[in-house]
Amino acid sequence: MRLILLGPPGAGKGTQAKRIEAQYDICQLSTGDMLRAAVAAGTEVGKRCKAIMDRGDLVPDEVVVQIIDERIDEPDCAKGFILDGFPRNVPQAEALDAMLARKGQKIDTVIEIVVDEACLLERIETRRKENPDSVRADDTAETLKKRLAIYSDQTAPLRPYYEAQDKLDKIDGMLSIDEVTEQILGHLAEIETPNV
Ligand code: AMP
Repeated sequence: MRLILLGPPGAGKGTQAKRIEAQYDICQLSTGDMLRAAVAAGTEVGKRCKAIMDRGDLVPDEVVVQIIDERIDEPDCAKGFILDGFPRNVPQAEALDAMLARKGQKIDTVIEIVVDEACLLERIETRRKENPDSVRADDTAETLKKRLAIYSDQTAPLRPYYEAQDKLDKIDGMLSIDEVTEQILGHLAEIETPNV
C-alpha cells in the first residue's frame, strides 16, 4: 500500500500516519521530520534548509525529491509507505510519479484530511502548550499563516492533479482522531479489496 496524506499544517497527518503505519506495517515518510533530523544532525542539507524551514517557506524541490527517492529504496519501505508532507506542489507530484514509474511502483490512493482552517491555529497552540520542550521553530502564529497561504497556493493544486488520476479521497478531519482513523482505515480496506 502506497499512499499520500494531504492536508494543511495541523490537520493531523502525522498522527494518522502513525496509526496507519502500525496497522499496515508500512513506513511513515514525513519530509518535515526528515528535514528536522537533518537540521539537528547538522548535515549539509540541514544547514541549507534550517532558515527556510524556520520562516515557514518550502525548501527546494530537488532536496525533498532526492530524500524521498533514496528513502523509498530502503528495505523497510518494500511493503509500502505513507507520504506525509510530500508532495507539497505539482512539480514534486510530477517528480514523484516519474520516480515511482522508474521503480515500477505507483501511488494507490491520496487521502485529503479536510479541516476548517479557523481551528488550525487553536490546534497549533495546543501543540505548543502540550509540548513546551519540543516547540518547533515554525509553530508560531505568523509562520502558520504563511504555511497556510503556501498550502492554498501551492499544495491545494494537488487536488485537481490527483482527481484527474481518480485517486483523491476526502476525509472529514473535524471528526475525532479515532473517527478520522476509522474512516481512513475503512477507505484503505476498500481499496485493498475493491470487489467486496
Ligand atoms: P512539516 O513538518 O510537513 O510541516 O514540514 C516542516 C517544514 O519542512 C515545511 O514548512 C518546509 O519548510 C519543509 N518541508 C517539509 N516537506 C516539504 C516538501 N515536501 N517540500 C518543501 N518543503 C518541505
